[in-house]
Amino acid sequence: MAKIGLATTWLDGCSGCHMSFLDLDEGLIALADKVEIVYGPLVDYKTFPEHADVTLVEGAVSSEADKKNILNIRARSGVLVSFGDCAVTANVPGMRNRYPVEAVLQRGYVENAEPPLAGSGEAAFQVVPQLCPHARPVHEFVHVDVFLPGCPPPPEAIFYLLQELLAGRIPDMRGRTRFGA
Ligand code: SF4
Repeated sequence: MAKIGLATTWLDGCSGCHMSFLDLDEGLIALADKVEIVYGPLVDYKTFPEHADVTLVEGAVSSEADKKNILNIRARSGVLVSFGDCAVTANVPGMRNRYPVEAVLQRGYVENAEPPLAGSGEAAFQVVPQLCPHARPVHEFVHVDVFLPGCPPPPEAIFYLLQELLAGRIPDMRGRTRFGA
């Protein structure tokens, strides 16, 4: 049986959802015969493939680069999974939404810098991806096929989701995970 191509990626997230994926432990071995990871931080491929059967997207859409990436990922993905609370609701990245971008940058890259930066910190701002006014959930930009809440989603829920997709079913995640930790 041909393996399904699985991509995983992150936008504005903390990588905790990917850590939960690694917590599948022996479940990873069970999946190894059926799944090939074709892109993501867990492997060394540098560009998103022309097609991934399933893509797990961690994190909110927070920058112009995120917007460009998620459109590209959607176009190249069969089933797209909104992976974790930041992808589903904006969650932690969305905490900045009540403040103007300039104030967020000032706080993060000047006032909280060690040692504190003099002046406006414009040099630091130039290396930060251009932020959108707000961090938004993935489904506000592209169609999402499956929502997998949790901060992070528990490994058991991730395993169930992948098993269902392998069986050709869109998983019903109700009762298997919840928002928050
Ligand atoms: S949902 Fe939680 S664990 Fe996942 S990226 Fe967001 S903050 Fe991190």
